[in-house]
Amino acid sequence: ASVAAIGGLDATPRRVQDRRDEGRRSDAGAFSNTPDTDPSVAGNREWAGRALARASYTQVGTVTVADSAVHGPAGLETVIRSARAAAADWQARTPEVRAWLLHQAGHALAARRSDLVTVMAAEAGKTVAEADVEVSEAIDFAHYYAESLRRLEVVDGARFVPVGLTVVAPPWNFPVAIPAGSVLAALAAGSGVIIKPAPQVPRCVAVVVEALWQAGIPRDLLRYVALPEGPLSKALISHSDVDRVVLTGSWETAALFRSWRADLPLLAETSGKNALVVTPSADLDLAVADLARSAFGHAGQKCSAASLGILVGSVGTSERFRRQLVDTVTSMVVGHPEDPTSVMGPLIEPPGDKLTDGLTRLGDGESWLIEPRRLDDTGRLWSPGVRVGVRPGSEFHRTEYFGPVLGLMHAPDLDTAITWQNATDFGLTAGIHALDVDEVRTWVDRVEAGNLYVNRGITGAIVQRQPFGGWKRSSVGATAKAGGPNYLTRLGGWEPRPLRA
Ligand code: GLU
Repeated sequence: ASVAAIGGLDATPRRVQDRRDEGRRSDAGAFSNTPDTDPSVAGNREWAGRALARASYTQVGTVTVADSAVHGPAGLETVIRSARAAAADWQARTPEVRAWLLHQAGHALAARRSDLVTVMAAEAGKTVAEADVEVSEAIDFAHYYAESLRRLEVVDGARFVPVGLTVVAPPWNFPVAIPAGSVLAALAAGSGVIIKPAPQVPRCVAVVVEALWQAGIPRDLLRYVALPEGPLSKALISHSDVDRVVLTGSWETAALFRSWRADLPLLAETSGKNALVVTPSADLDLAVADLARSAFGHAGQKCSAASLGILVGSVGTSERFRRQLVDTVTSMVVGHPEDPTSVMGPLIEPPGDKLTDGLTRLGDGESWLIEPRRLDDTGRLWSPGVRVGVRPGSEFHRTEYFGPVLGLMHAPDLDTAITWQNATDFGLTAGIHALDVDEVRTWVDRVEAGNLYVNRGITGAIVQRQPFGGWKRSSVGATAKAGGPNYLTRLGGWEPRPLRA
């Protein structure tokens, strides 16, 4: 693993800006991260209010379900054939032209920031703050991969040869950044793309795709197919003319895809069971804030979310830590995104069996520090919950719940805390709050996860600064991280290139 971020005062590296400056950037030279919207600027708050006040998100965008219909198996064959053919034309364009179009895509996404916030709020229940950073990330992917592709062509006398066709199967929890990032990477590499949105968020993905088409990405090169789960989806994912499937979803979904086609060329970001360790040397104020934010941002529905807090030694018995955590968590406003005071939005759908267990059933030795409560009849609004006394090896220790419930463990020392942190099947994100440098060194050497965060929350990876990807059952076939160097090389191969005479 590499240390993704050393936090503290610099934990939020993006600058913020007045949203009215959007679009005034140059593509010349080095990549830099797109700033998020600063809510302390009054004009930006009005901007957000307008985005949320739109009568209906169906006013956003023009891509219709009819555009995305696929007519039976024969229709699917046509889509696959035409995307592969378009990829051949795309690959014949110079890297400069392709990079320019990707930069245009970044500008188009920036121009649609408000539309994207509207659809994410309406369709995925994201608060403006959570949705806004996602748009920034999508824009970052466009500009970052545009720059990456210029460096792809020839390395050590070998030529990069992209795959012909990539199928993207994105998740519902990041319905803009992840579809955008996966599509833009494949396009940057030179591949044709078919994207099949998660059934919960078809319009979020439609607005992304529409922005890319408006930027000049050919419509037959990037195909949007809103297939229902079922035989056609299976036929697409397992089709032998598909060269890569880029999935972000659960480990179980990755296994299901593999069961459909044994030699499936799969690049998958999968589940996590992530812990943040807090040692007695930590800045406890910061640790409490980061733990709460990492556990309950987007109602805990992130692969990267903190589902465990492992408190070392005296932190585990600290009355002050407990009180501050209770105050922080119980004062989080839960509500729909239309209410600008909401910090935590609704679940994407009422909890299934597993999450219901996480929200209601205590294991041996556990008790509620804060009991989660169902807040409305839809079953989608829940107040955040914190359980204490989670034992190593228990159900809660090992299970990913994907919802607003945090479990606290009390470890006698740092070594034990790291052992517990590693003792899951997954290895996506991991964090430590400690100001003692030796503790941090020990932890970095031993912890088994892709993204390590020191003195910072453990969600919200940032393109180029903190490329995102996991170990163990948190990834499949993904030996390079999204938003980092070499990711594009996973979407093609290298061929020896004869030297010019
Ligand atoms: N990249 C996101 C983050 O760092 C998580 C993505 C996911 O949950 O799939 O928080």
